Amino acid sequence: MTIKEYVAARKAALKEEIASLPKVPTLSIITVGHNPASEAYVRGKKKDAAEIGINAVQTLFEENIAEEELLSFIRKQNDDPAIDGIIVQLPVPKHISVEKINLTVSPAKDVDGFTALSQFDPCTPKGIINYLTAEGFPFRGKNAVVLGRSEIVGKPMARLLLERDCNVVQLHSKTTEEDKRFYMKHADLIVSAIGRMFLWDASYEFKPTAYLVDVGINRGEDGHLHGDFVPNLPVALQTPVPGGVGLLTRLALLENLMEAVRKEK
Ligand code: NAP
Repeated sequence: MTIKEYVAARKAALKEEIASLPKVPTLSIITVGHNPASEAYVRGKKKDAAEIGINAVQTLFEENIAEEELLSFIRKQNDDPAIDGIIVQLPVPKHISVEKINLTVSPAKDVDGFTALSQFDPCTPKGIINYLTAEGFPFRGKNAVVLGRSEIVGKPMARLLLERDCNVVQLHSKTTEEDKRFYMKHADLIVSAIGRMFLWDASYEFKPTAYLVDVGINRGEDGHLHGDFVPNLPVALQTPVPGGVGLLTRLALLENLMEAVRKEK
């Protein structure tokens, strides 16, 4: 199943579930200032929500809002039973602490899954795991290589794979080239979350049965988006960029919100 087909099928199932609920689920999206990239992401999240019947409510604060005012708004939303999930779109202006925001959003409503206490897994690794599961990837005992160790992608990705009994190796910028080639050659699954265009090309050896998951988003000189892998490598499955992990990440936010709704029942 292609990622587009998988996402469409999951959305249809969620839409059906929502239609049968006694109340419409509500996602609160909090934005501060006018960052064009954030505005585009928020538009996408609102569109996804609307498509399946979730009520997405955006609250926009001006750039100069005091930190305490923002935190107190979040606390109010934590206590509001009409709100099922809360996301604060990053980045926020420098005078506002992201750490304080993360500590303030209730773990039961932190559907981005950013904090250690959150009851939800972060959207990008969660979306990848769900898709691999649907594709029948047999996690147990398989060699998984995670390239990158960021807090929002690399580290939680490795954790979720370990929880599913993969043999996980996490590589990063200090890994030698020789070791990268060695581990990738023996991998059944490679997740690249680096952000360097076409870093992994045909000069690397992959198992023909390997699954390659490309998280990287890189703008090429052609003006288009490209991944960390060159396209069409001779493997069993390679996720495209665009139209790959980005769609899975967006879907995972909806899945997390619905998990929150189910827990409330
Ligand atoms: P990040 O915080 O910049 O982390 C990049 C990681 O790559 C770091 O751990 C770094 O190692 C490692 N790295 C850099 N060069 C390397 C090399 N040559 N070999 C091996 N490792 C190397 O990035 P991020 O936030 O995780 O995002 C990674 C990419 O995924 C970006 O392109 C981002 O735009 C994209 N992304 C996509 C989605 C989506 O929904 N599709 C979601 C999130 C992120 P060190 O730790 O040693 O510095």
